[in-house]
Amino acid sequence: MPFKQYLLTPGPTPVPPRIALAMAQALPHHRSPEFEKVLAECREGLKWLFGTRQEVLIQSSSGTGALEAALANLCRSGDEILYVNGGRFGERWGSIARAYGLRAHEIAVPWGDAVDPAAVRDALNRAPGAVAVCVQASESSTGVAHPIRELAEVTRQSGACLVVDAVSALGAMPLPMDEWGIDVLLTASQKALMLPPGLAFGAASPKAWRRIDDGNLPRFYFDWRAEVVAQRRGQALWTPAISLILGLAEVLRWLHEEGLEAVFARHDRLARATRAAMKALGLSIFAKRPVPSLTTVNCPVDGEALIKLIRENYGVTLAGGQEAARGKILRIAHLGYADDFDVVVAVAAIERGLSDLGYRKTPFGTGVGAALAELGSAG
Ligand SMILES: *Cc1c(COP(=O)(O)O)cnc(C)c1O
Repeated sequence: MPFKQYLLTPGPTPVPPRIALAMAQALPHHRSPEFEKVLAECREGLKWLFGTRQEVLIQSSSGTGALEAALANLCRSGDEILYVNGGRFGERWGSIARAYGLRAHEIAVPWGDAVDPAAVRDALNRAPGAVAVCVQASESSTGVAHPIRELAEVTRQSGACLVVDAVSALGAMPLPMDEWGIDVLLTASQKALMLPPGLAFGAASPKAWRRIDDGNLPRFYFDWRAEVVAQRRGQALWTPAISLILGLAEVLRWLHEEGLEAVFARHDRLARATRAAMKALGLSIFAKRPVPSLTTVNCPVDGEALIKLIRENYGVTLAGGQEAARGKILRIAHLGYADDFDVVVAVAAIERGLSDLGYRKTPFGTGVGAALAELGSAG
């Protein structure tokens, strides 16, 4: 077992000591004035982070719970929805929709590609009654950024709500909900928000709230109508994940101190450095339209073997490809509690691991050098 462990996966991401300490406080009761103050601070901070005047609902679940809640609240039985499927998370929309008996039409996108907004417009023309267009801002299985701003333009003119899974995107790249016209924006705690898994978040536009108020699918624990009433009264509907919310307040303070623009610039800088390093090693980028939160590269050796070797020998945990991309790509995360030297560690581990497996086209340090040059030039 290597002496030190580095977690460089697109969820969960490392929890910084500052946040871990905030969560280690003695538990306040969730109906106490002390906790209500924290909740009020989180509600304000989340609106700022989401770029919305709407209430951001806080639920206790992983990210998939927010995806499920969005569809369960928004739809009526037998409704038609459209979903962009360009990876494992896109595929999940279809699974959830079918579980609720919805008629789900897939907009298939090859893994590694971003959806063409014209394809969504065509699909909406073919299904004019569709109530939702579901998509990922960052498809974490491929590292692709779908063009959310353009998709909002397309859905704005239709009756459908744009539902955006921003679980690995919010807090890493701009997604101003109200300004862009996103109808439902969803995220979770364990990616860019530097928290352990266990919290999920969702906000809805007035257009989406009209559907939510009119919905007739079964919902109880994740009933957004009840949640929004409770939150507006300054309360959580159920016993909330108190410790995680204490951590969330600290995360929001910290993001505020750094400034959202600086947070996004940091993610972008790390992404550019990682891509430069991979190209310098002779590796090609898998995502055609890469996200700033993770970098996906085509792996010149067996990706599963490389990841296992790097984890076991060097203590560096990277993610591999899933399903069709299994063994073929590496996913290097640089979101949340990530800085320049996390990129250097990831690149160094890949250089060393590739060399161990017999792939070495460039002198040691070539990738690291390219990363450092890019990080230095970005200032
Ligand atoms: C991580 C992630 C999710 C949520 O997965 P959970 O395991 O339920 O937290 C959803 N969508 C995307 C794009 C993700 O990266």
